[in-house]
Amino acid sequence: MATSNATLGERDDAAIAGIQKLRFNPLAARGGRGSYLTADDGRAILDLSASATAASLGYGHPAVIEAVTKAMADMAGASLLMYPNEPAAALAEALLETMPGDAERRVWYGHSGSDANDAAARVLEAATGRPRFISFIGSYHGGVAGSMSISGHTAMTHTLPRPGLLLLPYPDPYRPRFSPEAVLDMLDYQFETTCPPEQVAAVFIEPIMSDGGLIVPPAGFLKALEERCRRHGILTVLDEVKVGLGRSGALHAFSHEGMEPDMVVLGKGLGGGLPLSALIGPAAIMDHRPAFAIQTTGGNPVCTAAGLAVLRTVLDEDLPRRAAQVGTALMEGLRQLAERHEMIGDVRGRGLAIGVDLVTDRESRAPVPATTTAKVIVRAYELGASFIYVGLAANVLEITPPLVLSDAECEEGLAIIDKALGDVAAGLVPDEAVQAYMNW
Ligand SMILES: *Cc1c(COP(=O)(O)O)cnc(C)c1O
Repeated sequence: MATSNATLGERDDAAIAGIQKLRFNPLAARGGRGSYLTADDGRAILDLSASATAASLGYGHPAVIEAVTKAMADMAGASLLMYPNEPAAALAEALLETMPGDAERRVWYGHSGSDANDAAARVLEAATGRPRFISFIGSYHGGVAGSMSISGHTAMTHTLPRPGLLLLPYPDPYRPRFSPEAVLDMLDYQFETTCPPEQVAAVFIEPIMSDGGLIVPPAGFLKALEERCRRHGILTVLDEVKVGLGRSGALHAFSHEGMEPDMVVLGKGLGGGLPLSALIGPAAIMDHRPAFAIQTTGGNPVCTAAGLAVLRTVLDEDLPRRAAQVGTALMEGLRQLAERHEMIGDVRGRGLAIGVDLVTDRESRAPVPATTTAKVIVRAYELGASFIYVGLAANVLEITPPLVLSDAECEEGLAIIDKALGDVAAGLVPDEAVQAYMNW
C-alpha cells in the first residue's frame, strides 16, 4: 500500500506501468477547470496541449457534465453490440450530416484513435480483398497491433510495420527534402513496379501530421494524393484523431483542401475526455460483417452522450471559427517572439494546431537537440503552462490548447513561452532537469 506521505508522482512511479506513459513535465494533476489543470502543489497550470487534445472543450465543461450525468444515471452499461441506444444513434446521425458528398455511410464506435484505425485497416482489407496499405513516414495512427503496424513514427521502429505497407515521405514545406511532386512520382514508380495498385486497399494520412512534427502539407498535396489513389480504386482514410472536430479552424481538417475522403477517423477530442472514437466510412465496407470489429462497450450511451454534447457545442458555438481566430492571434504572437528568439525557425499550423520548430541556426534549419526542446517544455511548466514536443527530431513545440481558450489565456501562454525560450537560451535549465522527459 502507498505510504501516506508519498507524493502523487511517487505513487504513480511505483504503481503505474511505464509503457503507458509519455511524460513531458512533472505535472501531477489534482483537478481541472476550463483551460487549467491544478498541479499537486496547488498551482493552476495552463494546459496548452488540452491533454493531447482529448480535453477539446477544456476541463469540466458544463455541456459534457450534464450529458454524461444523465446517461450515467440511466442505462450506462447498455451495450450497442446487443441493443440500439439513443445517444449512439443521434451522434452517428449528426456525424454523418457533417460529411461531404452524398455517399451512403455508416459510423463505427471505438474507445480510442488506436482501435478506430485498427478497425479501419481490418474492415478495409476484408471488404476490398486488397491486403496492402500506404501511409507516411512520421505518421502515428495508434498503439494497438493493427494501427501500430500502419504507423511510421521513428519512436515505433522496435515493432515491424505490417507486411506490404508502403511508407512514403510526408512533404514538409519547411524542410523540403521531398517535394509533393517527388512523393507522388515515387508513388507512381511503386505502382509501376513492386506495389501493384490493385493490391492496395487504402492510404492512411493525417491532414496535418502531428506527432511527426506538426507539419501542414503543401497546398494541393492531399487533393493530388486523393486523385492519384482514386484512379486506382484505392480509398483514402483521413486520420483526424488529433486535429479534427474544429481544431484546425474547420470542422474537418481535410476540408481545407477540398477533399472528399472515403473514410474519416475521429477520436481524442470527440469524447471531450471520455474514451470515444468514431470511424465513418462507406456503407458497403462498414457493413462487411465478416470483418468483425466488435467491442462490448464501444458506442456505449455515456461516451456517445459526451460525444454528442461535444459535437453540438462545437457546432452551436462555432468553435471552428473561434479556433481559427485565436489560432491566428497565437501564431502571430509566436512569430513576434521569433524576432527576439533566434531559436524559433518556423511557426506553422492551422487554427489551434500549432507547431514551433526550434533550430540551432535559421540558415541551415538544423533542429535543436531534443534536450533543448525538453528544457523549454520543463521551464514552461515551472512558469505555469503545459505542452509537449513532437517531430522526428524532437524539436517541435506542439501547441494544441482547448478550443475554448480565451484571449487572455492566449496572452498568458505567449508570455510563458517567451520567458521559457529566453531562460533556456540563457542556460538557466540544467541537463539533469529533463532526463526523465526524453520521450522521443
Ligand atoms: C493520438 C492519435 C491516435 C491514437 O489515438 P489514441 O486515442 O491515443 O489511441 C491516432 N491517430 C492520430 C493522428 C493521433 O494523434
